[in-house]
Amino acid sequence: MAISDSEIARVRGATDIVALISEYVALKKSGRRWTGLCPFHGEKTPSFSVNAEEGRYYCFGCRVSGDQITFVREMQHLDFVDAVRLLADRAGIELHEDSSAGPARKERQEFLAAMEHAVRWYHERLLTSPDARPAREYLKSRGIDGDVARAFQLGWAPDEWDALSSALNLTPKVLEGTGLGFVNKRDRRQDALRARIIFPIFDPSGKAVAVGGRILPSASETVRPDGRIEPKYKNSPETPIYSKRRTLYALNWAKDDIIKSGEIIVCEGYTDVIAFFDAGMPRAVATCGTALGEEHFQTMRNFAKRIVLAYDADQAGQSAAASVYQWEQKHEVDVAVAQFPGRSDPAELALRDPEALRAAVNDAVPFLQFRLNRVLGAANLATAEGRARAAEPAMRVLAEHPNELVRDQYVMQVADSLRLEPRVLRTTLVDILRHPARREIPNEPTFSVSGERPIRVATTPRPGLEALRLTLHAPRLAKDRFIAQYFVNETQREIFEGLSSGRSVSDVIDEFERRGEDQAAQLLSQIVVDEFDRDFTAEDVTAVVAQLLRSAVAEELKNVERDLRSDKVSPDVAMATIRDVKERVALLDTAEGEGAERDLKDWLLERTPSDAS
Ligand SMILES: [Zn+2]
Repeated sequence: MAISDSEIARVRGATDIVALISEYVALKKSGRRWTGLCPFHGEKTPSFSVNAEEGRYYCFGCRVSGDQITFVREMQHLDFVDAVRLLADRAGIELHEDSSAGPARKERQEFLAAMEHAVRWYHERLLTSPDARPAREYLKSRGIDGDVARAFQLGWAPDEWDALSSALNLTPKVLEGTGLGFVNKRDRRQDALRARIIFPIFDPSGKAVAVGGRILPSASETVRPDGRIEPKYKNSPETPIYSKRRTLYALNWAKDDIIKSGEIIVCEGYTDVIAFFDAGMPRAVATCGTALGEEHFQTMRNFAKRIVLAYDADQAGQSAAASVYQWEQKHEVDVAVAQFPGRSDPAELALRDPEALRAAVNDAVPFLQFRLNRVLGAANLATAEGRARAAEPAMRVLAEHPNELVRDQYVMQVADSLRLEPRVLRTTLVDILRHPARREIPNEPTFSVSGERPIRVATTPRPGLEALRLTLHAPRLAKDRFIAQYFVNETQREIFEGLSSGRSVSDVIDEFERRGEDQAAQLLSQIVVDEFDRDFTAEDVTAVVAQLLRSAVAEELKNVERDLRSDKVSPDVAMATIRDVKERVALLDTAEGEGAERDLKDWLLERTPSDAS
């Protein structure tokens, strides 16, 4: 990093994000936020929202988010350092950069070398170590034997805090620069990944730049003693040697076949990629911890003109259609969607019926056709009424496509299937194009593609989400009412701890990204630009506290019961505690609620003291 954190903070502080973005897009004040048409995807109604005080933007359409620096990076295609320089110039401040380009390059070499060692070390562990036996067995059950594990350099991160850091004696600088670990609160080195199967990620030239880790299925339901749940997939954060938005997993191995065949298969997960290689189609890649985006297309168009999405149908259906059409046009590529029989994913299908996997890719349909098929497939085409009802949703799907000639081709096709006059459909289509429907803002981001299967943020519990909104947007009311122990959801608790640390939201998000906690980064990016139709009241806070307390107390009572079963506590004491706590919970919404809240809070604090040092 050539520019220090304090310099970066100074540049952010000196840059009014609304003024900056207004140089590119017209923003309008809407409540406490500013909104406008998103500069990153084509749209007709504003989905792009800006929080001026926190210096953050978020798009509800294509889900891009960031701060002043990411904005100029994206708009001007600059790297981080140049973006900071540009903003510093613009704000008339002088940067005190603490190193020049030379040392930065040397540092890069150091990080790449460390990553290469780490990949080799993880790989060796998988092949030979006794503690990796369950991992080997799991891989075998998914059709991945020793030869495949060797070909993809798969590894195993043991269930220890610092096995890798100590074995390779990695310095704090290298840990941070590679994302392989960090220095924890107790000032000790800690590995970023433990008890995970490692999928190393290489750049197109074959240099290892990052790792993705998957927990074993047997561990996926395990709740740690402190009540936290490990995320299923975890990937390296952005580092000086690794850009998520550019990198495609397995491109280093796939590029020859991609060039030969003129086709690139994009999967959701690492094991899907491996399945395609196994099935004789070594032209599959996957995104790493981000949704498929503009920069991936910039990379792919240099290799092939046909891009086949091998996602599960729901996931493909949720892809931001407007962006896909835009990228098709801009990069002159064709995007098609492979449809898999039943609800199978490529990895399953490869095991069961490799021929069907190949057929699915060969028979992939254009993206618009795929979207249309979904609408028509859901309609009842047997009756006149059913066919008529399907007309409008079908035309809405067509309306998203930017090319009139393409739209009209499909109008004819729909007219055939619905037995309607093309003229009638065209009228409907023109009407939709003139008055686009009000955009529905999802309450939570509905998906964010991780290393393998998508993380569905939508499952995030609502009271916790409300508590985070209050903490962020009504700080005076929320002050001292929430504590970390109230949050049973790991992601929400981490966001709360970040917000309570007194750092800026951008700093907190940066930290999440550095640690590969994409879900937390994504959720906070969205909450910060949330808009509300009214001001919050003290009653809102009290209601949310009561809901949170109920679930936190219920979780903690399970621990009391566990202690009771294992004789750690006498039955009398345990029963008294349970009765006591339940009585107070019952008082929460009554006139005595205030006292009950205080008692329960004290009880939780006593049961689970903060782990802050
Ligand atoms: Zn957008």
